[in-house]
Amino acid sequence: MKQLRNTVIRAGLGAFYLTGVHHLLQPLFAGVGAIFMLHHVRPRRDAEFQPNRHLEVAPEFLRAMLVHLRSRGIDVITMDQAHRRLIEHNFSRRFACFTLDDGYRDNRDFALPVMREFDAPLTVYVTSDFAQGTGRLWWVALEMVIAKASAIEVAIGEVAVRLDASTPAAKQAAFYRLHDWLRCLPGEHDIGREIGALCARHGVDQAAICRELCMSWDELKPFADDPLVTIGAHTVTHCNLARQTDEVASHEMANGRVRIEEALQRPVIHLAYPYGDRTAAGAREFALARAAGFKTAVTTRPGMLFPESADHLTALPRVSLNGNYQDTRIFPVLTSGAATAMWNGFRRIAAA
Ligand SMILES: [Zn+2]
Repeated sequence: MKQLRNTVIRAGLGAFYLTGVHHLLQPLFAGVGAIFMLHHVRPRRDAEFQPNRHLEVAPEFLRAMLVHLRSRGIDVITMDQAHRRLIEHNFSRRFACFTLDDGYRDNRDFALPVMREFDAPLTVYVTSDFAQGTGRLWWVALEMVIAKASAIEVAIGEVAVRLDASTPAAKQAAFYRLHDWLRCLPGEHDIGREIGALCARHGVDQAAICRELCMSWDELKPFADDPLVTIGAHTVTHCNLARQTDEVASHEMANGRVRIEEALQRPVIHLAYPYGDRTAAGAREFALARAAGFKTAVTTRPGMLFPESADHLTALPRVSLNGNYQDTRIFPVLTSGAATAMWNGFRRIAAA
């Protein structure tokens, strides 16, 4: 199903580009700016089974995006500057922010050097348990379990299921099935228990995944000292905030921030909601982030920024630089806002 959706989206974006429809839509949907969302930035890998590939782009793709923005005269600015332009209604120039979620080491090794070529700032949202080395990146763990296995046995809703994982296509199908099942489990501890059991059975070490992929506090210190880098918060455990009680959700936001501030000795005023879609961040989370004192909070809802975004600073949309669409022909479509307008049914603000 996801495969089909990806194919349709890709075809749709291609059609936008080829017919030039985005030029017609541009005056309506260009907005005043955009916040780009990335996760990993690292060289392409060869493996056929890469179900999390949408979460990574190659350094060359990031560079091409920056070249495109420069050629369009779009300012690349910090989240602090974007916040200021929004509240001051300073829209004389269009702007873009680059934000990277989770705190991956490749952000330092591959993204920062490219950003430096353009003297362009970036914001990295750190999950404090990931920096601690104790976090659980269950979507990566699931990929590793399936990559190793030729078959997976699980109980889905008390029904024993055996999923074939003997070919790349079968692995892909098994991943989508299990990913959807895990994300729909009632609580965070349910995901933890099920993925923990799968990892134990297939010899995958979750703590090692965290330490291998994420920057530690000691690595974050010099990284955060770089004048181009802003560190934002991304909760303590990377939980789905909408599924937590008020107390837990507030604690996840506030303590994730305090732990970064203590470790890195700098104020943290920007937040990204884990998962960040409608099922993970809504009106209650937007209010909690505001009450916790965050100046901005970003979702994963697709959209450009408009003057009205100043009234929804803890519900800001982003434009995903999705690894499945690393085709430079989509840049004009992304910066025109046509693709995100299509997603939003042509509404300009989706902050409800
Ligand atoms: Zn995240």
